[in-house]
Amino acid sequence: GSFDAMGIREDLLRGIYGYGFEKPSAIQQRAVVPIIAGRDVIAQAQSGTGKTSMVSLSVCQVIDTNIHEVQALILSPTRELATQTERVMQAVGNYMSVSVHACVGGKSIGEDIRKLEAGVHVVSGTPGRVCDMIKRRTLRTRAIKLLVLDEADEMLTRGFKDQIYDVYRYLPPELQVNFKLSPASCY
Ligand code: AMP
Repeated sequence: GSFDAMGIREDLLRGIYGYGFEKPSAIQQRAVVPIIAGRDVIAQAQSGTGKTSMVSLSVCQVIDTNIHEVQALILSPTRELATQTERVMQAVGNYMSVSVHACVGGKSIGEDIRKLEAGVHVVSGTPGRVCDMIKRRTLRTRAIKLLVLDEADEMLTRGFKDQIYDVYRYLPPELQVNFKLSPASCY
């Protein structure tokens, strides 16, 4: 398999190759096409197999950069993972002017408000801060079409269930949902 054969937009392909990826990893070969086709996907693989990158490029692919609203929301159990996803998306999305913001606890709320009001396409965050921003009506949810739950099993064991459900209630009914799980959850 190759990235060229996956129907990925040209400017994103440039970003992927520019980032140094030459061929999709196994999980990317299986999951990217169904995700960009709009299907709900549950992807389970060991860490370090390209799952974070898979989310980053699939999400970039579904963003319409002409629409200045949040179109995808990625929830992660830790600030580090949410921030890492933000960085990978900015790298692979380098040629397509996609605007990504990490919305995580421990960072300035003022900065979140400033960024969100300036307009971003993708929010990668932790459930608590994302929920807070939605309730303040700073994070507008009406144009969100894709929700990714990164390390979903980990989020549930960390007690984020109520916050995730809270966020979900604010999302449009026509929503694509992707879960990313670590293999431990299949026991
Ligand atoms: P991830 O699981 O997405 O964090 O990826 C683990 C490591 O593999 C990171 O250093 C990525 O930059 C790298 N990686 C992910 N996908 C690819 C790929 N298709 N080709 C080369 N390296 C990759």
